[in-house]
Amino acid sequence: MKVGFRGAAAAMLSVLAITLSACGGGVTAEGDGRKVVLTTFTVLADMARNVAGDHLRVESITKVGAEIHGYEPTPGDIKKAAKADLILDNGLNLEAWFAQFVADLDVPHAVVSEGVAPMDIAEDAYQGKPNPHAWMSPVNAQIYVDNMVRAFSELDPDHAEDYRANGAAYKTQLGAVGDDLVAAVSTLPADQRALVTCEGAFSYLARDAGLTEKYIWPVNAEQQATPQQIGSAIDFVRQRGVPAVFCESTVSDAPMQRVVEATGARFGGVLYVDSLSEADGPVPTYLELIRHDATTIATALAGASQ
Ligand SMILES: [Zn+2]
Repeated sequence: MKVGFRGAAAAMLSVLAITLSACGGGVTAEGDGRKVVLTTFTVLADMARNVAGDHLRVESITKVGAEIHGYEPTPGDIKKAAKADLILDNGLNLEAWFAQFVADLDVPHAVVSEGVAPMDIAEDAYQGKPNPHAWMSPVNAQIYVDNMVRAFSELDPDHAEDYRANGAAYKTQLGAVGDDLVAAVSTLPADQRALVTCEGAFSYLARDAGLTEKYIWPVNAEQQATPQQIGSAIDFVRQRGVPAVFCESTVSDAPMQRVVEATGARFGGVLYVDSLSEADGPVPTYLELIRHDATTIATALAGASQ
């Protein structure tokens, strides 16, 4: 009995020693030996997994469905970030909470929108500021991938060739999904190529696809959907004869339903932009997100014209 106890204690001690040495190597306590890349939101996490393959463990700070612009990090998030080996953020003022979040952390971080030509926000208090939603252009997403390949290769030079190859293969898929988006919208009559959404999150997608963009509010914030903003969207829909309008998965569609009631336009469906869905939902990946939005937009705008 005594020997058995000593054996068990020795085994426990050796497990503890392994766990402690793993922590010292920058791996989380439950880690599997891989370095940890932490992204600010789910869309970036999916892109990063495509580049990382099995070599890195990629996690998102914000969860599926979270509001990402005004997110308030928890003490748990900060603990998690302190143990990460690399943090990826979008930049372009998307993560207003991010600079403070990483200020006290000794963890390298990369801004994945670096090199993207920003589009300015045209209206309201954000006028002239860069629109943060650059990932909604599959063309821009390829620049995000280049930045991830570079950051992962610095973090883990032994697998640099794999990151380059994974990135190249993923960029081919991004190019194809971008071509499909343009093709879907090109079937619409020219006067019906108007995209009306809740948040002004589709400027880059609309530019790629040849859609005129109109939104109720420019960026998700505490104060949104003022009577003036809703009135402006109603005027646009009436003047252009827009057949269908949309809202995003992470915000209430109540303001857009008021546009629907006032104009007779159809509610064309839910679009995804700031978050993926759960794995069994409609957009578990970024490629699915773009495909879903392109199909939803093209179908609703075409269907209502008949
Ligand atoms: Zn947004």
